[in-house]
Amino acid sequence: MRISPAGACRTIVALGVILGFSGIAEAWEIKSTGNGTPIRWMDGDVTVDLDFGAELHGIAAGDAEREARATFGAWGQGLESHLAISFEVGETGLGTGRDGLNVVRWGTDADDEHVDPLALGTTYLTYRTSSGQILEADIVVNGVNYEWTTSESDCSDRYDLQNILAHETGHLLGIAHSVDHYESTMFPSAAKCETKKRGLSIDDQDAATFLYDSIALEAPGGNPVEELVNCSTSGDSGLLGAVMLLGVVGLMRRRSVAGTGLGCAFLVICGASGTSDASTLLHLEASELVARADVVVQGTVVKQEVILANGQPTTVSTIAVVRCAEKACPGTISVRQFGGEIGGIGLIVSGVHHLEVGRELVLFLRQTKSGLRPVGRAQGIFEVRRENGREVLRRDLRGSVLTRGGKAYEGRINIMSRVQFDLFVGPNLL
Ligand SMILES: [Zn+2]
Repeated sequence: MRISPAGACRTIVALGVILGFSGIAEAWEIKSTGNGTPIRWMDGDVTVDLDFGAELHGIAAGDAEREARATFGAWGQGLESHLAISFEVGETGLGTGRDGLNVVRWGTDADDEHVDPLALGTTYLTYRTSSGQILEADIVVNGVNYEWTTSESDCSDRYDLQNILAHETGHLLGIAHSVDHYESTMFPSAAKCETKKRGLSIDDQDAATFLYDSIALEAPGGNPVEELVNCSTSGDSGLLGAVMLLGVVGLMRRRSVAGTGLGCAFLVICGASGTSDASTLLHLEASELVARADVVVQGTVVKQEVILANGQPTTVSTIAVVRCAEKACPGTISVRQFGGEIGGIGLIVSGVHHLEVGRELVLFLRQTKSGLRPVGRAQGIFEVRRENGREVLRRDLRGSVLTRGGKAYEGRINIMSRVQFDLFVGPNLL
C-alpha cells in the first residue's frame, strides 16, 4: 500500500515484535504530523508543571502530584537517556493555551473548553510541522463530569487517577492508541476502578522504544525521519510478518526506494476518512445527543481554515445551512475543532475528526465560549448521502472507542435512511 498524500494520514501504525511462539503481533501507533513525520520530544530537558490546585474529589494536590510523578516514572524508565523530565509544583491556575508550559491539571470548570464532557482526560500536543518536534503538551483530567480516586483498595466506583494519567502521559510522549490491545496502557478506554494502565504492557514499551530509541531524530529543523513514511509495503499479512521480522530492529531508515518494502519497519494505514486516530468517549443515546446539542443543522462544508486561538491551531469550518432545528435558520454557521496545522505549528488531539470540505452533514453542536463544537466528537457528525434520490445518513465512529456502563466497544459505521434517522433522533427535529 502506498501512503496517501500529505495531510491525509494522521497515524502511523507500527508493528512491533512478534511475541514468542504465539505469533501474535503487537500493534501500537504513534502520532504523526500532516506529512507523516513522527511527533516526539527532541532529546533534552522537559519540565512538567503539576497544577492540581485545591483538593478535588477528596484528593489533595500533593497526592495527585504523587500519582503524576509515578506515571512519568513508569514511562520514563526507557526514556532516561533521551529525556530528563523534571517537575514544577505550586503554581496554580495554569491553562491549556500556548504558554510554553507543559501542564498537567484538573479540569474543574464546566465552561473550560479544554474539558470535553464526554472524555475522562485529554492531551493537547503542539508540535513543529517540519520536524515533528513537540513544543508543548498539556494534559487535562476531567474533574467536572467524573469522580476520581487514588486508592486501589477502596475506589468507591470512581476512576483511578494514576490509571488515566498513565494513558495521557503516553499521548504526551507522542504515542497514539493501541486499539487492539485491551491490556495496554494505550488501549483507549478505562473502566471505573481500573488500575491496569498504571503499569506498561510490552506493547506500550515497544511504542516508546520505537519513538525514543529506534529512530534517529536530529536537532530541530532537521527532518531525517520524514523519509521513513515514504516506504511502501503491502497489506498482505505474510509479507507484513516478513517486514516486521526484517525491519523492526535497526532498519528505521529506508534503504530501498519502493516495491519490496523490506526496509520499512512499519505500515502506514490511512482510513477511508483520512484519519484513524481513536478516542474514548461516553456513548450517547440518540436522546442524549439531541439533549446535549444547542444547535442542530444540516448543511454543506463550504470553507475551512486553520486559525490560532490562544496560540493553539484550531480548525474552523463554515457550513452553508439548508435545514435546522430552529424556525429561522442561519445562512451559515462556523464549527470549531481543536487541532490543525498553521504557520509551521500543529496541534493534535486524539479523537478529533475534522470536518471535510464539500461534505453535506447533519451536525449536533454544543455552544462553547468560543463557538460551536460537535457534541461527542464524531458522535455528533452525520454525513448526508443521496442514493437513488433518497437521503441516507452515515456516521463513521470507526477509530472511536465508546464506553457505557463500564463496558467499552469500538465504534462502527452507522447507516440510516432519512426515515430511520428521523425516528432515531425524534421526528421533526430538522
Ligand atoms: Zn487516549
